[in-house]
Amino acid sequence: MKCVNIVQMLTLMVIFQEEPGRLVPASALVFPRQPGKPALVVRSLTEPSSLKDLIESVAVPHCEVGTVYSLVYRRERSLDTLTVPGDVLEVRGVKPRRLLSPSFLCDGHLGKLALLLRVMGFDTAWDNSWSEPGMARRGINENRTVLTRSRSLLKRASMDNAMLIRSDDPDEQAREVLRRFLLADQVRMFGRCSKCNGRLREVAKADVAARIPPKTAKWLDTYYLCRECDQLFWEGTHVTALRRRIEKILARCPTPDRPDPS
Ligand SMILES: [Zn+2]
Repeated sequence: MKCVNIVQMLTLMVIFQEEPGRLVPASALVFPRQPGKPALVVRSLTEPSSLKDLIESVAVPHCEVGTVYSLVYRRERSLDTLTVPGDVLEVRGVKPRRLLSPSFLCDGHLGKLALLLRVMGFDTAWDNSWSEPGMARRGINENRTVLTRSRSLLKRASMDNAMLIRSDDPDEQAREVLRRFLLADQVRMFGRCSKCNGRLREVAKADVAARIPPKTAKWLDTYYLCRECDQLFWEGTHVTALRRRIEKILARCPTPDRPDPS
């Protein structure tokens, strides 16, 4: 009769947070729970598992992981390698990296974030009718960085170019994106249409005169048209308020001249 030897494999993970709000595993599995402190997770496994699956079992998506280092074997481990009994792993969050040609895809819960990113001039697709498989496909096909609040979407193996958005607040969500991808110095107002994400172009006032409210026409000479949906934009009082809001968001984001303002 064949005997099956079930080996209990204890693996210890020490998960470090690069900054508050990053790499937060499921609270019930974590000790201690103080924000900003390393989280200690002990897993007892009956069979080998990939490091990706092990780390995601405590609700940390693989796209949020920067490095995994084995303190026992003194070497870095890749996420597709298998767990080793008795190993002690140091898991560090992904470090901010600069996106030179940013383009984003926001999930259905992030409509306000999508609008803010478009106002800041970033190419940002959004549609609340998308399914998770549809979003994953579109992110890959269009080479967009997927921004989502869904940890289940991020567990898909194809979700490497993605980011977990943690905050409920759209301004804080925008700050998370700008900080993660070091984009504060790439913000340009009137680059994208807030309605459809089309590119804006400056137009002569005379060419759109019939569409400008008479009171606005008296004091403003600069206008922009969306190349896709033909929406007309100008810098009215609502845009002034939006500029102030964006300045507040940017005040806590790093730039090449100001590496760490927070
Ligand atoms: Zn448009």
